[in-house]
Amino acid sequence: MQPYQIAKTLVHNFNAGPSILPKTVFQQASEAVLNYNNMGLSILEIGHRTDAFQAVMDEAQMLVKELMQLDSNKEVLFLHGGASTQFFQVPMNLLHENASAAYLDCGVWGSKAIKEAKLYGKVDVVATSKDRNYSYIPKGYTISDNASYFHYTTNNTVEGTQMHAMPQTSVPLVADMSSDILSTVMDFNRFSLIYAGAQKNIGAAGVNLVIVDPEILGKTGRNMPSMMDYREHIKNGSMLNTPPVFAIYVCLLTLRWLKEQGGVPAIQQVNERKAKLLYETIDQFPVFNGVVDKEDRSLMNVVFTINDPEVEKEFLAICKSNGMYGVKGHRSVGGFRVSMYNALPYESVVVLTDLMKEFANKKG
Ligand SMILES: *Cc1c(COP(=O)(O)O)cnc(C)c1O
Repeated sequence: MQPYQIAKTLVHNFNAGPSILPKTVFQQASEAVLNYNNMGLSILEIGHRTDAFQAVMDEAQMLVKELMQLDSNKEVLFLHGGASTQFFQVPMNLLHENASAAYLDCGVWGSKAIKEAKLYGKVDVVATSKDRNYSYIPKGYTISDNASYFHYTTNNTVEGTQMHAMPQTSVPLVADMSSDILSTVMDFNRFSLIYAGAQKNIGAAGVNLVIVDPEILGKTGRNMPSMMDYREHIKNGSMLNTPPVFAIYVCLLTLRWLKEQGGVPAIQQVNERKAKLLYETIDQFPVFNGVVDKEDRSLMNVVFTINDPEVEKEFLAICKSNGMYGVKGHRSVGGFRVSMYNALPYESVVVLTDLMKEFANKKG
């Protein structure tokens, strides 16, 4: 049913970011470093204003629009600085110093975004799940109609929670989708601005995908450096200065791969199968504890613990000796964090859950 290719690998990469990409992408990217499109030049040595690179930029932008089914008014940008730069670039462009923006505080990344936004205006934190170490998504909060925008993180990479419903509000939506962009079908047109660091689901580190509705720009009256102004980037076709050409090329290869898999609806099915298998295994054996509320569980980053630190160490060592990378939990949560981004084959989850079952049975 799935045109999904199973990688025959001896290692399994559950890293949280930078993270696994399709094997074919690594192969094509390395070929392009040596000889791009038979030009006799490396992708690393062609000018960004050449026809060859312009074609890369055009196709990458077009594929983002196609895979996300974006309306024609949306602008697709590839910018520098990581998602962390968007934490302040967003309020710089959207928040008038006398106005306020609404933010949801659901994890370490969201709270960093809040901290940066406070530099540019008032921030109304509509709800937080800090009281239980960010192990759930708050619900039932209200967002003031006067807010300049509402910002939230769709998937909390560190804590393993994910928003499974869109907030009900009339104010412009802004989302940090760094760790779940292009993983599930969503009405992406509902957002006025989406940003995502590429290194989790779309490519190599060093570039951000930003999707913005130009309607919301230019309303703060704030002067800012050109490099911070989305309108300047739009005017210059995302080439206001030298863009991170190689990182964008890797995005293009990954976007092509995703299209070949059948796009977002097809990869969503694979992601759901992977998550189902892993969460069922966690729930089946008392030695493993799923940390977050079941209804808020992330399809991308699965967090669980083992009560006894010695047993935890033991299982970590078993994972390591079986070629599993990146399963150790974030220092703020402990335990295990298994990241299952788009490119992670179902087979890797089978191998991991088989180990978990064997281990749990031995522990009685
Ligand atoms: C990884 C991550 C970030 C930080 O990305 P950088 O590119 O390192 O700045 C921000 N938000 C979320 C949700 C992330 O997962």
